[in-house]
Amino acid sequence: MEKRPETPAFAHPGDRPMIIGGQRVAAVTGATLPNTDPATEAPLATVPRGGAEDIDAAVRAARAAFLAPSWSGITPGERSRILMQIATVIEQNGEELSLLESVNMGMPVQLTRHLPAGVAAAFRHAAGWPTKLYGQTAPTGPDRLGYTRRQPIGVVGVIWGWNGPLFQLALKLPILLATGNTAVLKPPETASLSTLRFVELLDNTDLPPGVVNVVTGTGAEAGEALIHHPDVNKISFTGSTRTGRHVQQVAATGIKRVTLELGGKSPTVICPDADLKAAAFGAATAFLLGSGQSCVAGTRILVHESIRDEFASHLEQAMAMFTPGDPLDPATLMGPLASQQHFERVTGWFAVAGEEGATIRTGGTRHGERGFFVTPTLLDDVTPDMRVVREEIFGPVAALMSYTDLDDAVREANNTEYGLAASIWTRDLSTAHRLAARIDAGTVWVNTYGEITESLPFGGFKQSGLGREGGLDVLDAYTETKSVLIAI
Ligand code: NAD
Repeated sequence: MEKRPETPAFAHPGDRPMIIGGQRVAAVTGATLPNTDPATEAPLATVPRGGAEDIDAAVRAARAAFLAPSWSGITPGERSRILMQIATVIEQNGEELSLLESVNMGMPVQLTRHLPAGVAAAFRHAAGWPTKLYGQTAPTGPDRLGYTRRQPIGVVGVIWGWNGPLFQLALKLPILLATGNTAVLKPPETASLSTLRFVELLDNTDLPPGVVNVVTGTGAEAGEALIHHPDVNKISFTGSTRTGRHVQQVAATGIKRVTLELGGKSPTVICPDADLKAAAFGAATAFLLGSGQSCVAGTRILVHESIRDEFASHLEQAMAMFTPGDPLDPATLMGPLASQQHFERVTGWFAVAGEEGATIRTGGTRHGERGFFVTPTLLDDVTPDMRVVREEIFGPVAALMSYTDLDDAVREANNTEYGLAASIWTRDLSTAHRLAARIDAGTVWVNTYGEITESLPFGGFKQSGLGREGGLDVLDAYTETKSVLIAI
């Protein structure tokens, strides 16, 4: 990295507090964790290393707020109004929030500058729900009245990963609040700054204290305390399948509700009739956006054998546009990996690829000498049984494979324990619909990639998760249905 632009006004450096019951607090133990800029390896700030006592305080605050008339007793219209206020506050502070995200986890400003508008839109979308959470009347006969009510679940523990913290929070928090729940947030330990600032900004709204609490800390300490806490009714989790499995096991003890958004190894299927240039840029974006640190990354590229060489050359040209650069440079499409630990994990896969007999066709190296940058990497000569094809690498690395016919494409696309997303590139509508129906994935994009909208459900088949965020389905994730039967 040659010349870094002027460091942005990083408004709140130093030790950042957590927020519990509206109060800014340190961890009970006084311990802290560093948050670092992955592009420069420079320390940014410290955050409290919260543990069981802090989680307990936050759960108590969330329970008190849940029961308080100022939250449980307000009208749906009032709840909508507060959600709209939150959207406005996010927009007013958008530049700071996007810069915090860029410096804390390395996502280019070219992407994070759209984040505040997206997060604000999620709150406005959710603001429409409180006044529309209808129940049903049931056909129960002339001397009975039966009806249903949708009620909040209670205190929801929210745990998520570092690869786009505010975006992931926006899939959970707006609807959680719209349905009347309260929250204890446990943000990712290496990228907590945008969440802490966001919760501070809630002071500028009429959201009652304690409705949203945040406890920073590690998964092993704060995370474990949250999933084990007996007064937490639901855990909404986004992260790896390994941790998600553990969350579900612990939740089973108290029959806590869970929503799990987990890992992926998504296929990108290139049909022979596709616009190859557009498909190549789409396929490159699918595994390089966010440096490949994306749950929906299209890391298995399945191309029809008849166009393999031509497509591969287009793909390598498209990959060149993602040469890593400073996230604060507006021209950068791909920044660094988010932490040293993750950088070591991803670069470790290059040796695995070699040992397994795969060829590194492009990339496979560190980029530059400072910061956790990795070159866009395309693996060739892979077989479906290789670990590099089966396991989530979570970096800018994809495997190129070919298929013979659509049955073969479907077989290979589904030859994975995951099922989060897929993309299909074709000009033939019939092929698009047929493939979309047969690929086991929660989301299938055709001639596009990565668009996640509040109005469509998002979630995983198989080991990519449980439950849905977005769409109508999300209402079931954050409400309990109560049946009322009255003799009349
Ligand atoms: P991770 O599972 O290691 O951590 C995620 C969160 O869980 C962090 O906040 C962490 O502190 C916490 N955690 C870790 N151990 C815990 C424990 N024992 N108890 C409670 N909490 C614990 O995942 P990660 O490496 O931070 O994130 C990358 C993973 O997330 C990838 O697998 C990616 O595919 C997945 N992801 C999925 C989605 C989706 O929507 N499906 C979105 C983004 C990321």
